[in-house]
Amino acid sequence: MIQLDEQQRMIVETVRNIAQKELKPKAAEIDEKCEFPWYAVKLFSENGLLAPLLPEEYGGIGIEYLLFSMIIEEIAKVCANSALILIAQADGMLPIYYMGSEEQKKRFLPPLAKGALAGFAGTEPGAGSDILSMRTRAVKKGDKYVINGQKCFITNGAIADLLSVYAYTDPEKRAKGMSVFAVQKGMAGLSYGKNENKMGMRGSINSELIFEN
Ligand SMILES: Cc1cc2nc3c(=O)[nH]c(=O)nc-3n(C[C@H](O)[C@H](O)[C@H](O)COP(=O)(O)OP(=O)(O)OC[C@H]3O[C@@H](n4cnc5c(N)ncnc54)[C@H](O)[C@@H]3O)c2cc1C
Repeated sequence: MIQLDEQQRMIVETVRNIAQKELKPKAAEIDEKCEFPWYAVKLFSENGLLAPLLPEEYGGIGIEYLLFSMIIEEIAKVCANSALILIAQADGMLPIYYMGSEEQKKRFLPPLAKGALAGFAGTEPGAGSDILSMRTRAVKKGDKYVINGQKCFITNGAIADLLSVYAYTDPEKRAKGMSVFAVQKGMAGLSYGKNENKMGMRGSINSELIFEN
């Protein structure tokens, strides 16, 4: 059985109270109206929940994955759309936290704890479970990489300030020829296709992303 310490129990209890009080009352309405819950982003940011897995030096509170899962669980009990924001946020920031340089971590991570949104762009029209089938390519030109390809179903996609984009630098090498690129909103060559009109999770944004040079 999982034993939580006093502080962990207190965090779960606090999140439960916040979720019940602030997120539950609007959950059905935002889903019905396809409204992204910006108030949830503000709430998470104010309560240290937007990037809790990060250590304090990058703006987080350094919690472990078990506690993060329990936080997600408390939020998802009342508003799955709000919970998915935090999952996409973690998916988008963790490649940088685990594989980025110190300079990249200092530049990209702290804003994500303060209200900026992240996303993780892996899936493509022809590559879902079989992610190695992806066709997006990144080619080095001078000191920059030029990305070409298309992604779909990307949570937070069109509203994300920062996207961790998966692309092949060397398709011959399969998994070992794949890299993650930190792509910021407004960068040249990034445009957005449609946001999916879904049967559920309608308060969450799932976008097509297009990379053209
Ligand atoms: C709400 C939502 C949010 C999402 N957010 C993101 C995101 O933020 N970023 C991102 O990159 N992607 C995202 N996705 C995409 C998601 O990761 C893909 O939908 C998923 O990887 C499955 O891919 P697919 O839809 O192409 O289905 P497929 O891969 O075509 O799978 C279809 C079915 O076939 C089964 N299947 C597939 N391969 C096999 C096999 N070899 N053997 C047996 N069965 C198999 C699967 O289990 C599934 O039931 C999101 C999707 C949804 C629905």
